[in-house]
Amino acid sequence: MTRIGIIGGGISGLAAAFELEEQRRAGADLDYVLYESSPRLGGVLRTEHIDGCLVEAGPDSFITEKTWATDLCRALGLGDQLIGSNDADRKTYILTKGRLVEMPDGLMFMVPTKILPTGLSPLFSWKTKLRMTQELLLPPRAVADDKNDHDESVAAFVERHYGSEMVDRLADPLLSGIYGGEAASLSVRSVLPRFAEMERTHGSLGRALLAARKNARNKVSAGPSKPAPPLFTSLKNGMQHLAETVVSRLTPTALLTNTPVQAIQPEAESWVVSAGLQSDQFDSVVVALPAPAAAQVLRIVSPELAAELAAIQYSSSITVGLGYDRQVRQSLPPGFGFLVPRSEGKKLLAATFVHNKFPHRAPDDRALLRCFFAGRNAEDVWQLGDDQIIGIVRNELQQILGLRSEPLFARVYKWKSAMAQYGVGHLDRLDRIEVLRQQLPGLALAGNAYRGIGVPDCIRSGRDAATQLVER
Ligand SMILES: Cc1cc2nc3c(=O)[nH]c(=O)nc-3n(C[C@H](O)[C@H](O)[C@H](O)COP(=O)(O)OP(=O)(O)OC[C@H]3O[C@@H](n4cnc5c(N)ncnc54)[C@H](O)[C@@H]3O)c2cc1C
Repeated sequence: MTRIGIIGGGISGLAAAFELEEQRRAGADLDYVLYESSPRLGGVLRTEHIDGCLVEAGPDSFITEKTWATDLCRALGLGDQLIGSNDADRKTYILTKGRLVEMPDGLMFMVPTKILPTGLSPLFSWKTKLRMTQELLLPPRAVADDKNDHDESVAAFVERHYGSEMVDRLADPLLSGIYGGEAASLSVRSVLPRFAEMERTHGSLGRALLAARKNARNKVSAGPSKPAPPLFTSLKNGMQHLAETVVSRLTPTALLTNTPVQAIQPEAESWVVSAGLQSDQFDSVVVALPAPAAAQVLRIVSPELAAELAAIQYSSSITVGLGYDRQVRQSLPPGFGFLVPRSEGKKLLAATFVHNKFPHRAPDDRALLRCFFAGRNAEDVWQLGDDQIIGIVRNELQQILGLRSEPLFARVYKWKSAMAQYGVGHLDRLDRIEVLRQQLPGLALAGNAYRGIGVPDCIRSGRDAATQLVER
C-alpha cells in the first residue's frame, strides 16, 4: 500500500486529501495522513453566522471563470449550494479626492474598451484619457526584443501603457484587493499574464481586448446564446461549508489537527514526517503550506529549496465585518463596494457591500459591510486591539460614506502572512523551485505560493500534487 503524508489542512491540503480519498474509493491501494497545526481544518476559509448575517472572515467567494472550485463543489454534491454574485448590481467605486467615483463601464481591469463612459468619467484626468487613446496606437513588441522575456512590476507595465495616474487610481487598488500587495512590487508575468501576452502580440492592450471581444462575439453569433455566468461564485452557507464538506468525505482517523510538523526528511526510499514527539513514514509527501512554513519544514532536507521558498514574500491582512440596520442599508450607495487608492491616505483598502454582492448573506433589514486592510496598512494597525481597529474603520466609513450609525455588530479577523506576493522574477523562482523539487522524488508542493493565490488555484494545486504522487 502507498502511504502519502499531507502537511497543511487549508483548502490546498484538503483538496489533495480529497483527491487521494477519491482514488482510494476507486480502488487505488493507498492511505494518507493529513497534519494540521491548528485545532481546525480549512485554513483561512472561515465563516461566522451573526445576527442573521453570514460573515466571511477570509475569502468570500471565488472567480467563476476558474472552474476548479465549482468542479470540487459539484464533486462534493454541493452543486445546489452554489450562488452567483448579483452582477445586475455590479458597480465598484474608487475613492477619488475624497469622493466615491464609479468605475466606468467597459473597463477590463485597467483597460478601457468603451470610449464614451471612460471619456466622460471623472475618475481620470484629461492627460490619462489622452494616454488611453494614444495607447491604441502602440505596435506589438518585437519578438526579438530581449526585454520581452524580462519580468517587470505591474506598476511599470501599466505606467508604460497609461501613465502613473492609472497605477494609483486603478491598478494598485485592484491588486491590493486581491493580493494585499502593491503594484510596484508584483510581477506582471505572474499576476497579469494575459495582459503581458496581449502586449507581446498586439502592443496595445486596448486593441488586443477589442479584437478578443470581436472574436468572442463571432463565436457567440455562430451558436446559441447562453447567459453570462456570474463573475464570482460562492456557497449559500459560506466558504467554510466547502472545507467542512471536504472534511466530511475524508477518513476521520487520517486527520491530525493540533499537530504541527517540524520537519520532513527522506530516509532510504521513504519520507519521515516529524511532528512533536511523533514521527511517521510515508512513500511521498504533499507540502501544502504557505511558503515560509514550507521553507521551515524543508530546511534540513534542502537548504537551497528552503531558501527559494523563504524568499517568496507574504503579506498580512485584516477583514472587519460590520452589521447595520435597515436605515443604513437604505442610505448606502448601490453596488458591490469601493476601493481606496493609497494616495487617498486612508488605512482601509477596500469595503464590500455584502448585502448587494451576495443578497442571501444579510436579511432584508440589515446592511453587511466587509472592510479590508492589507500589506503595510494592515501592519500599521496590527498591534491595536479589536476595538481600536473597529474605531479606525468607523471613522473612515464616516469620512467616505458619511456613515455615523453604531454598528449592530463588528468582528475583526486577522490573518498573519496569509497572502503570497508574486514579486518580479516569481516565474524564474518557480523554475528553480521545480528543479530543486525534482531532486527530491516523492515530494510535491501545493498552495498559494506558486501559480495562483485564489481558492480555485489552491484547489487545483492540491489535487494536481496528489495526482502527481499517485502516478509516480
Ligand atoms: C483575508 C483573505 C481574503 C481572501 N479572499 C479571497 C477571495 O475572496 N477569493 C479567493 O479566491 N481567494 C481569496 N483569498 C486567498 C485564498 O483564500 C487563499 O490563498 C487560500 O485559501 C490558501 O489556502 P491554503 O490551503 O494554500 O493555505 P492556508 O489556508 O493558509 O492553510 C495552510 C494551513 O497550514 C497550516 N500549517 C501551517 N504550518 C503548519 C505546520 N508546520 N504543520 C502543519 N500545518 C501547518 C495552517 O494552520 C493552515 O491551516 C483570501 C485570503 C485571505 C487571507
